Amino acid sequence: MADCLFCRIVAGEIPAKIVKRSGDALAFRDIDAKAPVHVLVIPTRHIAAVRDIKGADGEQLLGRLLAFTAEVASELGLDGDGYRIVTNTGKNAGQSVDHLHFHVLGGRKMTWPPG
Ligand code: 5GP
Ligand code: ZN
Repeated sequence: MADCLFCRIVAGEIPAKIVKRSGDALAFRDIDAKAPVHVLVIPTRHIAAVRDIKGADGEQLLGRLLAFTAEVASELGLDGDGYRIVTNTGKNAGQSVDHLHFHVLGGRKMTWPPG
């Protein structure tokens, strides 16, 4: 999608600190880190949010995306102390970019429940 910020990062039109790529996913540093480690993991094709995942293809993509996210966290050294994966969906959750993304947050103790 031409006017989607994260599609533009995928296309290389907007620079980002890339952490890892796979065939259908991309991990890059959040521009406004909320933890010592804050990485975003996205599918390279445009899907607005997790509620838009449909059918077997979508389920398989979601599985690969979550496995890829865990690999990214592991490679960033987060397995030992742990980390949080968050995906905001819609306005009540505060989703601000309408391209599905998993936040990987680590390097500090997280509070629970989130605000
Ligand atoms: P959301 O609020 O939708 O769950 O998360 C969107 C995230 O994207 C935010 O944490 C925000 O800091 C990050 N973000 C917004 N614009 C950019 C950008 O241009 N580059 C990068 N790397 N992250 C961004
Ligand atoms: Zn997009």
